[in-house]
Amino acid sequence: MERDTSHLQDPAIVWFRNDLRIHDNEALVAAAQHSSVIPVHIRQTGGAARPLGAAREWWLHHSLSSLGRSLDSLGTPLILLSGDPADLVPELAKATGATAVYWNRRYDPAFQTADSELKAELQAKNLVAESFAGQLLHEPTRLRTGSGTSYKVYSPFWRALEPDVENRPPLDAPVSLTPYGNISGLSTESLDSWNLLPTKPDWSGGLVDAWTPGETGAHERLSDFIEDRMQGYDDRRDIPGVDATSGLSPHLASGEITPAQIFEALKNTDNDAAPADRTKFRKEIGWREFAWHLLVNNPALVEKNHNTKFDSFPWLADSKTLNSWQKGLTGYPVVDAGMRQLWQTGWMHNRVRMIVASFLTKHLLIDWRKGEDWFWDTLVDADPASNAASWQWVAGSGADAAPYFRIFNPVLQGEKFDTNGDYVRSFVPELAQMPKKFIHKPWAAPQQVLDAAGVRLGDTYPHPIIDHQLARNRALAAYQQIKEAA
Ligand code: FAD
Repeated sequence: MERDTSHLQDPAIVWFRNDLRIHDNEALVAAAQHSSVIPVHIRQTGGAARPLGAAREWWLHHSLSSLGRSLDSLGTPLILLSGDPADLVPELAKATGATAVYWNRRYDPAFQTADSELKAELQAKNLVAESFAGQLLHEPTRLRTGSGTSYKVYSPFWRALEPDVENRPPLDAPVSLTPYGNISGLSTESLDSWNLLPTKPDWSGGLVDAWTPGETGAHERLSDFIEDRMQGYDDRRDIPGVDATSGLSPHLASGEITPAQIFEALKNTDNDAAPADRTKFRKEIGWREFAWHLLVNNPALVEKNHNTKFDSFPWLADSKTLNSWQKGLTGYPVVDAGMRQLWQTGWMHNRVRMIVASFLTKHLLIDWRKGEDWFWDTLVDADPASNAASWQWVAGSGADAAPYFRIFNPVLQGEKFDTNGDYVRSFVPELAQMPKKFIHKPWAAPQQVLDAAGVRLGDTYPHPIIDHQLARNRALAAYQQIKEAA
């Protein structure tokens, strides 16, 4: 039987969500088969979904602006609307005579019901409503262990997924798009009116210096990484003072680049980075897949302890120490450098994310959800799956979690991964003159060393807000409490 293609005579809507790109975009390719294309992005107001944090709003502004320029160059403008997509998409279809609506799947459980309901409603009206994959290398509900459950442990998950992922070549962007005939008759909101950029105060200077949001910026970063920086990734990715990781996470979070494109680029490069570097890099992308697998199969991951034993954990409600942690004023240099890198650039090195998360949940006994929330607001790569899964992993409450009793010593972590103190010096300038020996423990430095470095503890830089040994013992006692109660 031949496929009915009569709907291709009519306009199609392509609804951009977390896929702010024109390349490797199956929904856009499907829409491009139609007589004309109406690209739309909807700023959802209300509803169950968690609002974006401030750093991602900043990113969204620039990413939409970049997408708008790309679509203009293909021949049709991006329409911006705000409200409830459940109303706006059918209204737009009705107003334009579009008989098809295409989108790429987003896997956030908060959107799934609404997206399925909208699809069913459109189909009930005899419209074509189709969704596509692309944000991930796999459909998170597909992979199952031998006993039919979802995976809880990363290594077997990746062993099951990796052999599959070479197979999808990324799609080209459409060569051109025909705009809807009465495009000027469609109302669109202005990006500026969404007020996504901070004004009072404008804290975005460091983000502007660090990032180029948008698809072009994503591909520049990918080729810069693969061609010039990937060499040594396996060894150097844990060293926060060197620029050894890709920095692709915010581009992935907004769907400006797909993991399939990254894998394809890794296959095609003639960079002779050691196989170990490529393998490690692919495995890290695999962690992102795993986080989505965990979230989709455990939709409460953002709010609830995966390990329910932690429901009775005696977290402390201490806004003063939480505030010191957020501001990077804990008195532990590597923790403070991380928190200030986050504030300044909207990003933090993975090793340091683990250190600061451990410090919050174990040294300060503050609920991981407070940390997850702060990261959600301040990270340009804030992602519901990776953020929640990683916080739970560090806190000890997650699937495949680090055992609770593994408590990072922030001094030893600093000395091991930031041996010369370069990372601390760049984000904690008041310690810039401290010698290597004391950079991670300024309180242990003799007075004349502090004087020579211009450091006055308690004045230019804080004393540690808690003693490491005391914090460690307190955390272990708290853990013992829930272990005994279980
Ligand atoms: P690279 O080393 O270049 O890795 C390439 C890609 O692999 C990354 O862009 C990312 O997509 C993926 N990746 C790497 N490590 C991880 C990991 N441990 N978990 C999941 N994916 C990974 N990542 C986010 O994208 N969003 C978050 O909100 C987020 N929150 C985190 C919170 C905590 C407490 C911790 C410990 C980690 C968190 N991560 C998060 C994971 C990781 O820190 C970042 O993905 C990584 O630092 C991004 O830098 P990169 O792109 O240079 O990484």
